[in-house]
Amino acid sequence: MRILVVEDDALVADAIRRGLETAGYAVDRVESAEHATGALAAEAFDLAIVDIGLPGIDGLSLLQRLRRDGLALPVLILTARDGLADRVNALDLGADDYLVKPFALPELVARCRALIRRSRSAASAQLAIGPLVLDLGAHRVIVGDSEVELTRREWAVLECLALNAGRVVAKDRLLQAIANWDAEIGANAIEVYVSRVRSKLGNSVPIRTVRGIGYRLDESAR
Ligand code: CA
Repeated sequence: MRILVVEDDALVADAIRRGLETAGYAVDRVESAEHATGALAAEAFDLAIVDIGLPGIDGLSLLQRLRRDGLALPVLILTARDGLADRVNALDLGADDYLVKPFALPELVARCRALIRRSRSAASAQLAIGPLVLDLGAHRVIVGDSEVELTRREWAVLECLALNAGRVVAKDRLLQAIANWDAEIGANAIEVYVSRVRSKLGNSVPIRTVRGIGYRLDESAR
């Protein structure tokens, strides 16, 4: 899962990044609405965190523009002002949630998790595909009766496949799910992560290779 943080304040942005990365998300940050528009047009993000107070175009105008352009990704608005009008405005313009600064990191992380879950229209935090059970909140993986330990990136790969179970997920999409811009990861790395996930999960969880495109987690075991 990949999150775009639109925040000009480096200290706040770094704290947010650390909190979200610890929780297992890939995080990229831009400092302005203009850069955010470019990033969102170029790459797939699962959520955007947008500060209202930005240099140039402000966060609310950015939100308005994104919704006008038909972008449906969940947006969490950050505001330093605790004015009611700002919050109402944000929601009216299509924000999915907001947080007033200063906020506690665990609350931000929990809200992000909830927004992403809701946007995937998963009714519960658990995803079951045959013998595979993913606890999306706690990042736990259970196959049959045993818990399987995955690294952060292995988890991200499996989560992306599971949320798209039955459909082919392109290698690029998986790459975007695990890596931010700073990470030096080649497309071949995806093959490595998928093969590690396969060997940890065993044969009862079929992750198929779709030659030249990507991978598909079969629902057939359901
Ligand atoms: Ca700001």
